[in-house]
Amino acid sequence: MDLYEYQGKQYFARFGIPTSPGGVADTVDEAVVQADAAGYPVVVKAQVKVGGRGKAGGVKLAADADEVRLHAGNILGLDIKGHVVKRLWIEHASDIEKEYYASFTLDRPNKLHLGMLSAEGGVEIEEVAVTNPDAIAMVHINPLDGLDEGTARDWVDRANLDPEAREQAATLLVRLYHCYVEGDCDLAEINPLILTPEGKVHALDAKVTLDENATFRHPEWEEYADDSDIDVREKMAKEKGLNYIGLSGSVGIIANGAGLAMSTLDVVTQAGGAAANFLDIGGGANADVMAAALEVINADPAVRSILVNIFGGITRVDEVAKGIIEAMGRVKLSSPVVMRLDGTNATEARALLADHLSDRLIAEPTMLDAARRAVALAEA
Ligand code: GDP
Ligand code: MN
Repeated sequence: MDLYEYQGKQYFARFGIPTSPGGVADTVDEAVVQADAAGYPVVVKAQVKVGGRGKAGGVKLAADADEVRLHAGNILGLDIKGHVVKRLWIEHASDIEKEYYASFTLDRPNKLHLGMLSAEGGVEIEEVAVTNPDAIAMVHINPLDGLDEGTARDWVDRANLDPEAREQAATLLVRLYHCYVEGDCDLAEINPLILTPEGKVHALDAKVTLDENATFRHPEWEEYADDSDIDVREKMAKEKGLNYIGLSGSVGIIANGAGLAMSTLDVVTQAGGAAANFLDIGGGANADVMAAALEVINADPAVRSILVNIFGGITRVDEVAKGIIEAMGRVKLSSPVVMRLDGTNATEARALLADHLSDRLIAEPTMLDAARRAVALAEA
C-alpha cells in the first residue's frame, strides 16, 4: 500500500526523521490557513500517489497568501498522470543547498535489504542509474545485523555527500532504516533529501510503500485505507474474500490454484487474447465461491468472455461442475463461459454438465482449446 507524501512524512516523524512543518488542505481556504500556520514562504504540494509532481506543475512555492490562493486553486483538480488532485500538503519552504537521494528497499535475489544513497538527488533516480550509475552508493544489509552508525557514515562517504551533511545524514539513514524495518515498509524513499544553507539535513519528499502482509501488526494503518485509488473490481473481490487482481484485457479468468491461474493467463496470451484479471478460487470451488467469482468478473464492463479452468486434484471437478451450474442460475452473466474441467471425477463432471451446455456455456477438452475459444468469443 502506497502512502501519500504527507502520510509518509508523518510516518517518518514517528521514527525521528526530520521534515518541514506543514498541514493538509482540501480547499483553497484551508490551504491559506495551513500556510499562515507553517510560516511563509511555503510550498504547495499536490497529494497524489505518483512521482514527478514537480514537473507536472503540482509543486509550487508561494511567498504570501495570495500566491497560495493562486497555486492551490490551480493544483486542486489538476490531473497528474491520471490522478486528480483532491488534497494538498502545505509546508514551510526550505532553502536548498544540495539535493540528495536516499532509499531502502528489499533486494529479493540476494535476500538482503538494499540501501541506495546519492549526492545527485532531486531528479528521478532511474535517470541517474542510467546516466551516472557510479553516483549511486549501495549498501546491502543483512536483516540480522541491521545498520549501525559507523556503516552509515562510511556509506555517506562513499556517496560523496557534503562533509557538513555527514553526521546528520548518517543518523537520519539509521532512522530511515528503522522506519523501513520496524515500520514494515517495502520501500522508504526520500527524494530529495536536502542540505540547507544553514547546514540542516532533512526530508523534503517521502515515498513510503507499506508491506500489507504486516497489516496484522499495525492496527494504526487503518487510517491509511484509501478507497479512491483502489480498483473497484479488486475492492469487490476483496469483500467477497477472493484472490483477485484486475488486469486490462477482455477474457475473464477463473482458475483453481495460483499456478494454474497464471498458466491460464499465459495460454490466453498465447491464443492472442488478453486476460481481464487473475482469479484463484483455491480449492473451495463450491457454488458460493463460483457465484462470487462470476459476479466480480461479470461486473467488469471490459469482459467479453469468461474462461473457467479447473484441474481437480483433491478438489473433485463434479463438485465444481455442480457449483458452476448453481452459480450460473444465480448470476445473470453478460458474457459466455468457456470451461475446461479436468482431473478427479472429470467424466462425472462432463456428464453433469451435458444438459446445461449452450452457446452461453461451452465445454472444451483442453486448456489451449478453451483459451482459443474464449479469445475468439471475446473478439467476436
Ligand atoms: P516530486 O516531483 O513528486 O518528486 O515532488 P518533490 O516533493 O520531490 O518536489 C519536487 C521538487 O520541488 C524538489 O526536487 C525541489 O526541487 C522542489 N521543492 C520541493 N519543496 C521545496 C522547498 O521547500 N523549497 C524549494 N526551494 N524547493 C522545493
Ligand atoms: Mn520527489
